[in-house]
Amino acid sequence: MRTITLIIIHCSAVHPGQRSSVADINKWHKERKTKDGRPWKGIGYHYVVRRDGTIETGRPIEKVGAHCVGHNSHSIGVCYEGGLNEKGEEVDTRTPEQKIALEQLLERLHAQFPKALIVGHHDLNPDKKCPCFDAVKAYAHLQP
Ligand SMILES: [Zn+2]
Repeated sequence: MRTITLIIIHCSAVHPGQRSSVADINKWHKERKTKDGRPWKGIGYHYVVRRDGTIETGRPIEKVGAHCVGHNSHSIGVCYEGGLNEKGEEVDTRTPEQKIALEQLLERLHAQFPKALIVGHHDLNPDKKCPCFDAVKAYAHLQP
């Protein structure tokens, strides 16, 4: 297994009612290219938490993800479905079901990687608002 020092939380930046399952994101990410022009190897996140609380597995955690420039080699990427309101503004749209599922998933990952810090994408790249809530504070009880 890779050394994991970060668990990075993302939102999928979709509007209410717009679906972003692992299969959807896999398709979107396959259409992207790396800086040197090679196509992405499908979904860059390791987990997607759907609006109904379903936890879907994306890229296997053994594999380096593609979700946060400069931090992929030593991190796990967790994405919740949502992040935009009706007006397209970037806001925390987590449903109660997603909050419970995220908590359960992060508890599991914290047990497996107790030294990994849980952060939001925004904490590593302030240009991004993603995941639209303070992940460090929200998961203070699961930090190393
Ligand atoms: Zn992000």
